[in-house]
Amino acid sequence: MTRPPVDVLVVGAGTTGLALALQAHDHGASVRIIDRRPDLSRPSRAMLMHPRTLEVLRPLGVTDALLARGDTAASVRLHLRSRVVAVRVEQLDLPGTAFPHLLVIRQADVEAVLAQALVERGVPVERGAELVGFRLENRRAVIRRESGLEAAGYRYLVGCDGAASLVRGRVGAWRGGDYAQEAVLADLDLRAAAAEALEPDSAHVVAARRGLLFLFANGERAPWRMLATRPAGAAPLPFGQPGPSVPRAELQALVDEAGLPAAITDVAWSARVRLQHRLATHFRRGPFFLAGDAAHLHSPAGGQGMNTGIQDALNLGWKLAFASGQARPSPVLLNSYERERRPADQLVLRATHAIFWAEASLHPAAQLARSVLVPLGAPLLPWLTRRRRLMTAGARTLSQFRLHYRRSPLSVDGVPAVRAGVRAAARAGVRGRRPGAARGPCPGSRVADTVVTCAGERVRLHALIARPGVHILLQAGAADPAVAPLDGGPTDARIHVRRLTDRPGLGVLIVRPDGYVGFRAATVDRRQIQKWLSLVGLGVGRV
Ligand SMILES: Cc1cc2nc3c(=O)[nH]c(=O)nc-3n(C[C@H](O)[C@H](O)[C@H](O)COP(=O)(O)OP(=O)(O)OC[C@H]3O[C@@H](n4cnc5c(N)ncnc54)[C@H](O)[C@@H]3O)c2cc1C
Repeated sequence: MTRPPVDVLVVGAGTTGLALALQAHDHGASVRIIDRRPDLSRPSRAMLMHPRTLEVLRPLGVTDALLARGDTAASVRLHLRSRVVAVRVEQLDLPGTAFPHLLVIRQADVEAVLAQALVERGVPVERGAELVGFRLENRRAVIRRESGLEAAGYRYLVGCDGAASLVRGRVGAWRGGDYAQEAVLADLDLRAAAAEALEPDSAHVVAARRGLLFLFANGERAPWRMLATRPAGAAPLPFGQPGPSVPRAELQALVDEAGLPAAITDVAWSARVRLQHRLATHFRRGPFFLAGDAAHLHSPAGGQGMNTGIQDALNLGWKLAFASGQARPSPVLLNSYERERRPADQLVLRATHAIFWAEASLHPAAQLARSVLVPLGAPLLPWLTRRRRLMTAGARTLSQFRLHYRRSPLSVDGVPAVRAGVRAAARAGVRGRRPGAARGPCPGSRVADTVVTCAGERVRLHALIARPGVHILLQAGAADPAVAPLDGGPTDARIHVRRLTDRPGLGVLIVRPDGYVGFRAATVDRRQIQKWLSLVGLGVGRV
C-alpha cells in the first residue's frame, strides 16, 4: 500500500528524532518517524537531563512523565583519594525556572516517554524500517522492511539517524576526529570494602590519575551503571553504537586504578564506546536537514549530547511545520535553523572538549591535576560548592540558559525600539517599574519564568506559554495586535495572545514555540507584528 506523502519524514527514533516528530506534529505538520531498530529497548548512554531541556519540552506535555521516571534529588559524592566530599546538586539555585535541578534519567526512559506521547497523538514510531535511499528530484525516500521496499513521499526529510548518519552524506562533510580515549559502560553490582565508601542512591565520581570514573545508582540491568574512560584500542569501534563487551577483570582494573575500595560481584552488561568530537559543515541542504548526533558528536563530558539534540529538534520542528503550511515558505525561516543551531552546537562542542580534557586526558598536566592538585584542594570543595553564585553560573552555562539567537534573522527589534519606548511610555504617563524591567529580554533570548498576572490570575510565565505555538505577550496598556486574517477567516490556532496586566507599558513581546523571543517593540504596530508572523510562516494577511 502506498501512503500519501507527509510534510516531515523523521529518520531515527532516538531522543532527537522523537522530540522533532512531536514538535513538528504539535505545530501542525503531518509526520512519519522511522527507525531501523526493530524494538524500543537498547542500552542507555545518556543519564542527565538539564533544566533548560525540561523547559523547552514542557509545551509538549511530557515533563511530568519525565520527572516521574527520573530523580531530581540525586546527591553526588566526589571521591578524592581517601576523602569523600558530598556535593549538593539537587537545588542549583537557578532563578526564574520551574526546574532548578538536574534530572538523572536514563536515555531509554526519555525515549519511552517521547514515543508514548507520539502514540497518543496517533503517530507511532515505525520500527524495523530503515532508510536506504532518498533523492532530491522526486522527494521519495526508499524504506526497507522485512516485508520489502517502500517509496515514501515527503516534503522535508530530517536525518536524526545518529553518528553514522546516512542523510549526512547529502548535507555536509563531517569535520573533527576521534578521541584517544574510549568510554567503557557497564551495568554491574559492587561490594564496597566499607559501607560508607559506596553509599547507595547516590552518584559517585572518582577522580583518578587516568580519568574520572562515574557510578550512577540507576543501572539498567544491575544496580550500578559505570562510566569510565581508558586509552582507545587500536581497532576502531563502530560509529555511534555500543561496541564489544569488556571482560570483568578489565572493569575491576578500572575500579582499582581509580582507588575505589570495591569489588565487582556481577556484570550484567558492558560495552566499549568510541568517542569523537565532530561537527557537520552544514545542517541543511534543500529539503534535507540534520539534527542531534547526526549533526554533531561530543564526548560524554558535561552530559550534553542528548540535551543539545533535543534543542536542535525543538528549534527545527516548528519551523518545518510552519513552512509546510505555505506554498512558498520564507527561505529565511528554514535557513535560520543552521544559522541558529550550528554556532550553538559548535560552542557546546568546544566546551565539552575542554571539560573532557580535564576529566579524561592523559596529558601529564591533566593527570597531575586529577591525582595531586584536586585532592589537595579537597578541603576547599564544600566551601566552593556553597558559593551559590559560582554554582549557579556553572549550572546556567552547562544547562544552556545562556544560549541565545540574537544574531538570527528571526530575532527582530521592532520600531519604536524598547529603550525609546520606555521614554515614550513615561511621556504618556505609563510608569515602568524600573528601566531594566521595562526593557525585558532581547530578541533571541530565553524568557525567564517570572510570575505575571494574566486574566486576573497570578501565574508563572512558562506555565502560561506551555502550549505549542507562538505567544504574543502584551503589556498592560498595549493596543490589540489584531492577528486575525484580513479576509475575516479564523485566527490561526497556533497564535496565542496574552495581556500581562501587571506589566505597565504599551509594548509587545512575541515568544517563539521553542521559548526564545522572536520580536519585541515598545508599542504595538500591527504591520510589524504581521510581518514577523509572515516571516515565520504564519501568514495572517497582507503586510
Ligand atoms: C558514554 C556516553 C554517555 C553519554 N551521556 C550523556 C548524558 O548524560 N547526557 C546527554 O545529554 N548526552 C549524553 N550522551 C550523548 C547522547 O547519548 C547522544 O547525544 C544522544 O543519544 C543522541 O541522540 P540522537 O537521537 O541524536 O541519536 P541516536 O540516539 O544515535 O539515535 C539515532 C537513531 O537513528 C536510527 N537510525 C540510524 N540509521 C538509520 C536509518 N538509515 N534508517 C532508520 N533509522 C536509522 C538508529 O537506530 C537510532 O535509533 C552520552 C554519550 C555517550 C557515548
